[in-house]
Amino acid sequence: MNDVLTIKQDFPILHQDVNGHPLVYLDNAATTQKPNMVIDALDKYYKTVNSNVHRGAHALADQATKDFEATREKIRQFLNAAHQEEIIFTRGTTEAINLVSKTFGKKFIGAGDEIIISTMEHHSNIVPWQMLCEENGAILKVIPINDKGEIIYEEFLNLLSDKTKMVSIVHASNALGTVNPVERIIEDAHKVDAKVLIDGAQSSPHLTVDVQKMDCDFYVFSAHKVYGPTGIGALYGKKELLEAMPPFHGGGEMIKEVTFEKTTYNELPYKFEAGTPNIGDTIAFGAAIDFVNQVGKSFIAEQENKLLAYATEKLSKIERVRLIGTADHKVSVVSFIIEGIHPYDVGMMLDARGIAVRTGHHCTQPLMQRFGLEGTVRASFAVYNTLEDVDKLVEGIKRIIQMFG
Ligand code: PLP
Repeated sequence: MNDVLTIKQDFPILHQDVNGHPLVYLDNAATTQKPNMVIDALDKYYKTVNSNVHRGAHALADQATKDFEATREKIRQFLNAAHQEEIIFTRGTTEAINLVSKTFGKKFIGAGDEIIISTMEHHSNIVPWQMLCEENGAILKVIPINDKGEIIYEEFLNLLSDKTKMVSIVHASNALGTVNPVERIIEDAHKVDAKVLIDGAQSSPHLTVDVQKMDCDFYVFSAHKVYGPTGIGALYGKKELLEAMPPFHGGGEMIKEVTFEKTTYNELPYKFEAGTPNIGDTIAFGAAIDFVNQVGKSFIAEQENKLLAYATEKLSKIERVRLIGTADHKVSVVSFIIEGIHPYDVGMMLDARGIAVRTGHHCTQPLMQRFGLEGTVRASFAVYNTLEDVDKLVEGIKRIIQMFG
């Protein structure tokens, strides 16, 4: 499968015209497109298997349960987690961070304790911690970044203390592409007994992740950024921590026994999975992981690094284009502004040429404030993108600059 055009062939949505031009999809950090394997898995589930899981009184329910639990094992392998029960299904990254802040946070973080995040966090790794601080009097501390969009490591070390209970940090920034030195962060945080949550929404599609080697306490990601469906994702947590945490939602499935006097909770992972789960999308999530494994993370990284280097080189040569985020270690995200032209106008005009990019604050308003910007234009690449896609982007930008004069 290791040839980009063959891979691209497998994504039906990419073979259409948009606004009279062949689609060039460069909004992969927002969501990736889905290969036939994923679409077929959903189709097959609803046509032949649809049943509720874990209540297996009949053949279809058995099959649904097997397929559903098979995804848990695929995710375990994808992250190299030690145990299947360390993988909790959530609606995505956002829900997973909320789960940790509202369960671990409630039990283990109190008034005066400190939570450290960074300037480049997505709102979903800011707001849940702010909410916790408002509820319980904990204090949020923010690691500053330099002009290249890298965290200032000494400042992180200065913030760390025995008051730090949680360091929650993005592995790869959705707005800048910066890859943070998470292994070092985890090692230093553990020296003061703080736990570390890694927001893997943007690292899971691009980097090989090994939660045991990294030694993170929590790792969260969303299927839809890894060629899978929306509305499903996963939380990895170390078993002893998940066991010590109270449940998140109450209801069916998460209980062992219910009486009006007292309810006892189910074992991991079900303690955190109340109610009927998103079965079809979970199964298709498994197909997305199969897809990534078939293509191979090293091929994906090689291809995307080529695109990143090429786009960076071409864009930086255009007068009036200013790249935002020039870290030494990046995933395939290129953020930029064109002096004198609003990002929104750039996005609209690229769209008129069939080129899909993201414009705005990318759910990172404090980061934009750090750069004194309202927003940027962001092109983000996936394994099915080609150098020709980059050429079309560059050509489009040159035309926009000409038109605006
Ligand atoms: N964190 C990062 C770095 C992201 O890029 C995103 C999505 O863009 C999220 C968190 C939130 O992911 P979701 O909307 O899938 O929950």
